Amino acid sequence: MHKSVQTALESLGVEPPLTGFAIGDQFQAGKGDLFAVHSPVDGSLLVELPATDAKQLDEAIAAASEAFFKWRVVPAPVRGDFVRLFGQCLREHKEALATLVTWEAGKIFQEALGEVQEMIDICDFAVGLSRQLYGKTIASERPGHRLTEQWHPLGPMGVISAFNFPVAVWAWNAAIAWVCGDPVVWKPSEKTPLTAIACQKLFAKTFANASDVPPAISNVVVGGADIGQLLASSPALPLISATGSVPMGRAVAKTVAARLGRSLLELGGNNAMIVASSADLDLAVRSITFSAVGTCGQRCTTLRRLIVHESIADKLRDRLLEVFDNLPIGGPHEAGTLVGPLIDQRAGQSMAETLVTAKEQGGIVHGGERVEDGVPAGGIYVRPALVEIDAQAPILQQETFAPILYLSRYHTLDRAISIHNDVPQGLSSAILTSDVREAELFCSAAGSDCGIVNVNIGTSGAEIGDAFGGEKETGGGRESGSDAWKRYMRRATNTVNFSGELPLAQGIRFDI
Ligand code: NAD
Repeated sequence: MHKSVQTALESLGVEPPLTGFAIGDQFQAGKGDLFAVHSPVDGSLLVELPATDAKQLDEAIAAASEAFFKWRVVPAPVRGDFVRLFGQCLREHKEALATLVTWEAGKIFQEALGEVQEMIDICDFAVGLSRQLYGKTIASERPGHRLTEQWHPLGPMGVISAFNFPVAVWAWNAAIAWVCGDPVVWKPSEKTPLTAIACQKLFAKTFANASDVPPAISNVVVGGADIGQLLASSPALPLISATGSVPMGRAVAKTVAARLGRSLLELGGNNAMIVASSADLDLAVRSITFSAVGTCGQRCTTLRRLIVHESIADKLRDRLLEVFDNLPIGGPHEAGTLVGPLIDQRAGQSMAETLVTAKEQGGIVHGGERVEDGVPAGGIYVRPALVEIDAQAPILQQETFAPILYLSRYHTLDRAISIHNDVPQGLSSAILTSDVREAELFCSAAGSDCGIVNVNIGTSGAEIGDAFGGEKETGGGRESGSDAWKRYMRRATNTVNFSGELPLAQGIRFDI
């Protein structure tokens, strides 16, 4: 194991033997099959971990259910105060956790720091929210009646997360769930269990300083799709929040729907940007590059389709090619690197196969080759690809989780918007333009059909204050800021009659 990983683990309190299962502050060895976790940086073995087995999962769910009865009656601002302490603990361990994210998920250290900052930000947001779980007072049609809405804790919830945001997605869910009164059972990606164990250690450390907190408001189980399915099928968990690919979302949605549970789905994106003729080209090159190659093209909001006005397409292509040809590709832990590795061999293969298909469909492929010089041996490093292709090519309909940017041309904005929306996914979108009418049209009901609609910035890099999520096959979920908290609570409508009469709604007469 690399020295910096060891140091990070030590400072996070993660010491061998690693367990693979935690109920609150009780860490135990998983009783399932051993699975290996390799670092995308250099393919080195990070850990061999026993998966949590079905019985242990049941124990975690039972503990979370038990904790719920205590946690739901702790006043929300007191719950918020615990989240404040957790945010403080994250601040103190920001660099160590980011180092682990870099080695386990492969994102460059700057982006890993950003991911931990996102955790801190959502804690701050949740602290404020804990005093703002507002319900409405509604005018009653009956005299002497008061009609109000109250929001109550929903119950213990399950979180299934993807490898590419190994800690932030859990924090988006957990910080909001906790202030809403819900314990969490978390199943991280089988590719990134170490960061999850580290988060749970930080939770346990915070918990040690907190009163009023039942430890089982946070629990971790590890393993693959099988344990994810078991989690999703549990009727004891009224809400399952699942982040990952569209096929995973379909499987989870079906399981949760079969028991009439509630799911919150954050699935794949196929994000596009329209670059109008009036766009600022310097800004375009910078925003396109960050969105297309950040996290080596492995963000759900990664820019995958560029729809460029024909009058500037050649110029923009040439400028992008110059930047793509000179991108510093290398170890994500090394200063100056902008493009780190793909997560694994399979991701490299999927990128190579997609580029072959793109060529067969008439694409002109620039870049996209494996990089082996000047990068750590054992990792899968690639040069981001730019593919000039007709917007109708079938390959543009799919998300390939790698840095491939398709460039198509358009003549009228109406056509560009129709190309933009003509994919099954609906996560993030952007337009670069200096024409306010074009910008407003893109943001209007006749514009982008995505959950995230940006003007003069790229498709990636959302803030936690937003309600984050997308439409169509992206799953329709919203997490994080705005009023996303409502998904984590149940609404009770209270009618109180203080009149001494019994007038019926809708004026119904029912005299006995
Ligand atoms: P993945 O779908 O392979 O796995 C995600 C998680 O789901 C893992 O924990 C995995 O073990 C679990 N899982 C897989 N199949 C399952 C099943 N049938 N039942 C229950 N659990 C199951 O995704 P990944 O490769 O880790 O991540 C990449 C994908 O995630 C991309 O499609 C990306 O766009 C998407 N993503 C979306 C968002 C968003 O907010 N919309 C954020 C991050 C990633």
